[in-house]
Amino acid sequence: MNLLCNFFKRILSILLLFHLLSSTAQEMSLLFLGDIMGHGPQIKSAWNDSLKKYDYNEVFEPVGDIISSVDFAIANLEVTLAGPPFDGYPQFSSPDELAEACKNNGIDVLVTANNHSCDRGDKGIQRTNQVLDSLGLMHTGTFSNQQNRDSLNLLILTKEDIRVGLLNYTYGTNGISFHAPTYVNLLDSSLILKDLNFARAKNLDKLIVFVHWGEEYQDQPNEYQKIFNQFFKRHGVDIVIGSHPHVVQPMHYIKDKDEEFLTVYSLGNFVSNQRDFRKDGGVMFRCSIVKGDKASINDKEYILTWVNKFYKNEKWHYEVLPCSNKMFGKEYFTRNEDYAKMIAYSNHAKNLFAEYNNDIQEGSPYPKIHIQKNEPQELMHQTNTKWIKKLNLLKYRKKKHRDAK
Ligand SMILES: [Zn+2]
Repeated sequence: MNLLCNFFKRILSILLLFHLLSSTAQEMSLLFLGDIMGHGPQIKSAWNDSLKKYDYNEVFEPVGDIISSVDFAIANLEVTLAGPPFDGYPQFSSPDELAEACKNNGIDVLVTANNHSCDRGDKGIQRTNQVLDSLGLMHTGTFSNQQNRDSLNLLILTKEDIRVGLLNYTYGTNGISFHAPTYVNLLDSSLILKDLNFARAKNLDKLIVFVHWGEEYQDQPNEYQKIFNQFFKRHGVDIVIGSHPHVVQPMHYIKDKDEEFLTVYSLGNFVSNQRDFRKDGGVMFRCSIVKGDKASINDKEYILTWVNKFYKNEKWHYEVLPCSNKMFGKEYFTRNEDYAKMIAYSNHAKNLFAEYNNDIQEGSPYPKIHIQKNEPQELMHQTNTKWIKKLNLLKYRKKKHRDAK
């Protein structure tokens, strides 16, 4: 009898402990997007002739809810916002409205260190940062001056007691140099070691490095990526997110006792005018940082996206579609070949990830969440679609958190 009693007591205390842990755990959700490019035809397409202004909102709209539903959405801005004349490849300068649309559709952070950072010289770097500041978008990677780098290089994302650091580097700037006081973070191991030492003293729960690297159009990381990835692992980075190859590359999650390390080698293009197979799609990577006693990386998953370029009302349009959403099935497309291209891309990416990913699967475009009793019930009655209800709720939570600041 006594034995049985002790057994139940033990079960009860485990349940109580579990309850305490689960009720005190905090969570920060993150979403990473690949390269936001601005080729000439995209600039042309964004021009609204009746309003006489640029407008990029339609590009982001089909995935806007997914982006808006996380605490922090982070993307690579692979153009400068250097003002007119606007132009695409090879030296990009896009209208400021591109960044405005990023902001409107839920992107919180833009990383700016990439091979196009110097496309419009030092002035381009400075103006890009001014525009992002004026829009209230967080950014890191390129800096207008030393003071700017000192305060912004390590971007710290916070939610409740969770603190996540973000650093950003590029392998190069297409041979165009920058001049003091402007600065672009290059993949230079001694510079990075200094930054990692600085970050270590900041009491972070996790540290992310967003890195522009790799060989264009290759499905697998090259030696350079692998060597730097190991370097980051050795020196205490928790999450490495890559971009630049314009195609997706595998993702690995490794857990060894208490240590965890996550790498996404390449997110591919988020949006571009590259229309060839594999370059026409990308991947969004989502995870959350859950903190009880210690912070851990949870709910790791990828969401495939594809750029739909279509002709309507006498002009070309671009929009980024979530591939695995029934809303964008065959009947959505005006041309069958576009649907076929999306499926070809998504099959390719799924096969690549099935074969080479380690412990990271495809997620539903719309995240799993648990609804709490104290949240407004009307959010749940706006539509019959389950995922829209969930996203409304997530957006409500995000706004509430922002307003509370
Ligand atoms: Zn690049």
